[in-house]
Amino acid sequence: MSANWSGTVNFQDSTFAEPASISELQEIISASPKVRARGSAHCFNEIADTTAVAISLHKMPGKIEINKESQTVRVPAGMKYGELAVALHERGWAIHNMASLPHISVAGAVATATHGSGVGNGNLATAVRSLEVVLPDGSLKRISKGETNFEGFVVGLGLTGVVVNLDLAIEPTFNVAQTVYRGMSRESYAANLDQIMSLAYSVSYFTTWAAAGRGEVWAKFKSGTTAPAELFEAYPATSNRHPLPGLNPEPCTEQMAVSGPWHLRLPHFKMEFTPSAGDEIQSEFFVARKDAPTAIAALEKIAPQINEILWVTEIRAIAADDLWMSPHYQRDSIGIHFTWKKLNAVYEMVKVVEATLAPFDYRPHLGKVFSASPEYFKAVMPKLDDFRKLVAEIDPTNKFGNKFTDNLLGI
Ligand SMILES: Cc1cc2nc3c(=O)[nH]c(=O)nc-3n(C[C@H](O)[C@H](O)[C@H](O)COP(=O)(O)OP(=O)(O)OC[C@H]3O[C@@H](n4cnc5c(N)ncnc54)[C@H](O)[C@@H]3O)c2cc1C
Repeated sequence: MSANWSGTVNFQDSTFAEPASISELQEIISASPKVRARGSAHCFNEIADTTAVAISLHKMPGKIEINKESQTVRVPAGMKYGELAVALHERGWAIHNMASLPHISVAGAVATATHGSGVGNGNLATAVRSLEVVLPDGSLKRISKGETNFEGFVVGLGLTGVVVNLDLAIEPTFNVAQTVYRGMSRESYAANLDQIMSLAYSVSYFTTWAAAGRGEVWAKFKSGTTAPAELFEAYPATSNRHPLPGLNPEPCTEQMAVSGPWHLRLPHFKMEFTPSAGDEIQSEFFVARKDAPTAIAALEKIAPQINEILWVTEIRAIAADDLWMSPHYQRDSIGIHFTWKKLNAVYEMVKVVEATLAPFDYRPHLGKVFSASPEYFKAVMPKLDDFRKLVAEIDPTNKFGNKFTDNLLGI
């Protein structure tokens, strides 16, 4: 693995380790002065990079174990959500939500607070009930919900140990039907944001920032709820859609209100296809849900600039949680996401978007492109100091850190 998924970060590792057992992993970690866990490398920034030993867990044993009593599943850290979802559904179970794509590793997604949508749905890390990690000296530690500092360990940015497995909350499998509503203007969307985002179990609004542009509401209804025949001025699509304007919808999950298993509807993209555009860079900024209409109005002022280099924007809802490094920490959030074209101009444009959203105390998605200074980051992340202390206790020599996390934490 020499680069991240989008090909925008060339990895600098001196060694790429692929342990096949926990004991092999423990040996590598205790023997190396500097290591960094890597999942499926879908982040758009340098968070998964290292100049030392990169560790991939994809060769570790890959079976899940379900505990019916506690309604949890033990998942090997390197497993992909798409694989986990199939195994769970076959046994009659589900997790509460999925990201737009099933291709990402469970530990890698949890480490950055990856999310789907839904006003009642926390990000994917909120399903974690316990974690087993390898510490810098090679010892194993399990930490469970209810124990001190658990909320600091979960969204760990690769700094709170190399995760070996995770226990996730599960629920009985359920069906979802997806309806795409076309013709929703940004004005109507912003004016009715709460109502629209509460319409279904998971709702996304896709739009460009074109002057007269109309976007699409992608609504994922849990079985037992019915899609309305119209949504303000928007109407159900009469054929399948791709979220990126003009692209073939074949890679996308089933739409047109056809009911089916949760894992084949909650992500936008199917496991067996390349998700999204491929040729892209992503960034995403979270604001409090109550501030979202005003934040969208502020972005309207830079809409033409954004649009010049954009594939599409997606707006989603994420419920508040208590995980220290989660951008949704104690704040019901709206994520304003940008799928940019793969151009250098994106990095300057991100600064313009950040300046526009700073009055709303935006928090960045930690796996996507952002430029926030450590001072800004500290000001908007209330538990940053506690996280820094926890990391210093776990890892006094900063074995797990890299340039990206040193900068973010001000180390
Ligand atoms: C096409 C596309 C669509 C996306 N859609 C969404 C979306 O819908 N929602 C969303 O929130 N994000 C989305 N993302 C972003 C992405 O899901 C996250 O950035 C996620 O963290 C990627 O997981 P990964 O396994 O690739 O992790 P990596 O990029 O490999 O690593 C991410 C972090 O996890 C750490 N890590 C990995 N494995 C371990 C381990 N075993 N122990 C400890 N730490 C570990 C790494 O050190 C690093 O800090 C998307 C990305 C792409 C490319």
